[in-house]
Formats: sequence, structure tokens, C-alpha cells
Amino acid sequence: MFSVYRIGDAPICLEKKIYNSPEVVERLEQMFHGKCYLCEKADLQAPEIEHFEPHEGNPKLKYDWNNLYYSCARCNSIKSNRHRNLVDCCSDNIDVVRAIKCLMPRTPDGDVSITQEVNDIRVENTVLLLDRCFNEDGSALRGITRASLIETMYEYFCDFLKYRQIIVNRRTTPREKQDAKDALEVMLQNQFEFSAFWRWHVLTDRKLKNEVEDLINF
Ligand SMILES: [Zn+2]
Repeated sequence: MFSVYRIGDAPICLEKKIYNSPEVVERLEQMFHGKCYLCEKADLQAPEIEHFEPHEGNPKLKYDWNNLYYSCARCNSIKSNRHRNLVDCCSDNIDVVRAIKCLMPRTPDGDVSITQEVNDIRVENTVLLLDRCFNEDGSALRGITRASLIETMYEYFCDFLKYRQIIVNRRTTPREKQDAKDALEVMLQNQFEFSAFWRWHVLTDRKLKNEVEDLINF
């Protein structure tokens, strides 16, 4: 999960009881860097507007700008209205990256590891949801969307490991090392896909962490 800064006032269309207007979608797309706020996948083919607090029977929540989030279809359907009382990535009361540890599986068929780092019921609830978002493959369709998600993550993971090896290798030239650090720095930014994972793969790697201490002041 990554931090999001909600920008500007509520779009006018929400007063007219329309929440899926182009203005809302474009504003959310920009704010969330085109990433699903739960799995951090970007360039979504079918992005959805997600209601953070389920709006059933509550029109106020349905058209509340602060309740609208950008998500992929997979995460939206997994969350549905069953997962509540979650960590809010738009709130600056909590460091969402440090609160939830995210690590890649050793093999693509293994489980992504999502663990609670802060003793808080919202973090606990969010860990349960994210675990499902990254790992659930119980039905044929969820199996396909899960495989696609992991393939994309693995492509970036391979890049991450390549940069890591260049940075920690004694034979690397200063220029090669700087290029690899620059590439890694981009991966650690909020706007990069699955950025929470790459941050945690730095934080849990003593050798790499020592080399790139200046890049992880998040
Ligand atoms: Zn998602």
C-alpha cells in the first residue's frame, strides 16, 4: 500500500449525484498515479471507482469525494462490502508503507507475504484484505487474474534483483553503480508500480540497505 494525497475540492458533479463522471475518474487516476490503491497495479484496463466505506443504503457515502478510491476490478470485487475498518492510504495519520510489510514470493506460484508491523485493528483488517488481493486464486477467473498480477510483479522483481546485484557487487564500476541506484530510486517512488514491495525488499536487505541508505528516507 502507498500514501496518497487527495488534491483539490470535491468535483461539482458529486453534488448532482453523479460519481462516475470523467472528471472524477481523471482526478482519481491522477491522484493514485493510475495505480489500484490496494494491489498497486497500474495501467488498469478496466479501472473502477471504489467506495472505501461501503455505501449501500447511504447516499452520503456514495457521493462523498473522500470516500472514492481508484481500484482494479479484481481488488474491488474481493473487497466488496465485507472488508471494513481498513487503513486509509489517504490519511496522514499513519505511515501505510511501514505499517504493512510486503514481500515477493520465492516462486510465482508461492504466496505473496503480507504482514502486520503495527498493532492496530485497521492494519490487521487491511492485511487480511491485501493477502486475498495478492493471493486469492480459488475460482477460475481469480486464478487467471492472480497469475497475471504475479507475472507483472515478477518482471519488476527481476529488474529489482538485477539493480541490487550491480549495487552490491565489488566489481561494479562507480558509473554502473550510480546508474543502478538511479534506476532503483525510481522504483521506490510512490508512483511506481508495487512500490511498497521494492521499499520492503530494501528494508529487509542489510547489504543493499547500507548502500542505498539515502534513497529510503520514506
Ligand atoms: Zn488491485
